[in-house]
Amino acid sequence: MAFEYAPAPESTAIVDIRASYGLFVNGEFTDPVDGTPFKVINPATEEVLAEVVEAGPTDVDQAVRAARAAYQDVWSRLSGADRAKYLYRIARIIQERSREIAVLESIDNGKPIRESRDFDIPLAAAHFFYHAGWADKLPHAGLGPNPRPLGVAAQVIPWNFPLLMLAWKIAPALACGNTVVLKPAETTPLTALLFGEICQQADLPSGVVNIVTGAGATGRALVEHEDVDKVAFTGSTEVGRAIARAAAGSHKKLTLELGGKAANIVFDDAALDQAVEGIVNGIFFNQGHVCCAGSRLLVQESVADELLGKLKRRMALLRVGDPLDKNTDIGAINSSAQLDRIRELSEVGDFEGAERWTAPCPLPDRGFWFAPTIFTGVSQAHRIAREEIFGPVLSVLTFRTPAEAVEKANNTPYGLSAGVWTEKGSRILWLADRLRAGVVWANTFNQFDPASPFGGYKESGYGREGGRHGLEAYLA
Ligand code: NDP
Repeated sequence: MAFEYAPAPESTAIVDIRASYGLFVNGEFTDPVDGTPFKVINPATEEVLAEVVEAGPTDVDQAVRAARAAYQDVWSRLSGADRAKYLYRIARIIQERSREIAVLESIDNGKPIRESRDFDIPLAAAHFFYHAGWADKLPHAGLGPNPRPLGVAAQVIPWNFPLLMLAWKIAPALACGNTVVLKPAETTPLTALLFGEICQQADLPSGVVNIVTGAGATGRALVEHEDVDKVAFTGSTEVGRAIARAAAGSHKKLTLELGGKAANIVFDDAALDQAVEGIVNGIFFNQGHVCCAGSRLLVQESVADELLGKLKRRMALLRVGDPLDKNTDIGAINSSAQLDRIRELSEVGDFEGAERWTAPCPLPDRGFWFAPTIFTGVSQAHRIAREEIFGPVLSVLTFRTPAEAVEKANNTPYGLSAGVWTEKGSRILWLADRLRAGVVWANTFNQFDPASPFGGYKESGYGREGGRHGLEAYLA
């Protein structure tokens, strides 16, 4: 039975969005030198939220210079214990301002407030707490008795988890003694700019963190700047490849966290209702804008019909709509460009002969929306089984034996994550040994912890973020 819900909108009164923003360079919000303004919109309403700067090469250069000076004069000279104090302070301010940040994140990104409030922002704070703990213990990280910072880190992040990706990048860099210039995604710069304010509030020394907003050209100017020592990128495999080519032969240390096409594998002995929750969480969390999304469901043939029946019933209960409504399960697609990409690949699915089923849910008139969708009758050759759709679209394939499940799961150029649903512990271990994926979740999906390293194989990139392994990316 479907319940009727009254709207439960989160108030926006706590958020103060300015009409326009400068760049955050050397501890101040500054006017651009050769940047140009562009507008940021709310993907759920298409309303303009603010005007921000597309930073030009001179702006990027100034930010890198500020980071270099802060590195040489201040940050690399502080003891780990002193750096930790700043990281703890930032973590606590994120917690104190968490409601404000969550509302801003949902307005800017389109994700449900339930997710930004309960997942993105608490986990961002947790990353700062976790890395604060490491700052004075680096000689015990297993990287030698005296690991050294690299210098200036250029960090480029995507739009799917704006503040969380910022935290994944900035917290370890700072803990290890590096300074940072970060470029948020073009469509989601507002929480990164708010983070600039948080750095001011935490009295972080000027230039240790710099935020340059902009689009692809700004990102490129940043990662190709000669005076950066480290490049950390999360985004599409295509851009990741271009960055790797540009960095080849230079002194820059590189980590890439790229796409995925994860298999979520359900065996006939699995608790099917629990698996359905995991499948829904795996592909519809954050509108499917998740690099490790369980976008390929591999279900054992003998339970396929039963599982799909349960899945469709569950999907029909998902509430799509206003990201600020606390009852919303699925929010807005982040941009019209991304919506076009999702529509296009879904049409390819139709064309290739897969069968589309869409949850019967009303969609708002304005904004960018895509109803939760599954494709059955998908074969491994179909593009929707191979390419990252990065939206709320699940491709369903079947298998008969565990060996076939492994073969199909690994038949992808990616290798970021996988899920396994079975009652048998021995089978979980057997599969985990054979799946070429950085993370394998067993009877759960999309679990994250700052202490646990995250990263991929093959075209999903290289390097790890989080945990002791993630420190290696920021130390020499
Ligand atoms: P991009 O890879 O283009 O964007 C990621 C970040 O890189 C953004 O900040 C972007 O800026 C920046 N950027 C773009 N071009 C360059 C460049 N040449 N040099 C340096 N930085 C650059 O992803 P899109 O947002 O265009 O999304 C396209 C597809 O990529 C999605 O449909 C999805 O499949 C995949 N994707 C995967 C992600 C993941 O986590 N694995 C995350 C995001 C996307 P700007 O925002 O201005 O484009």
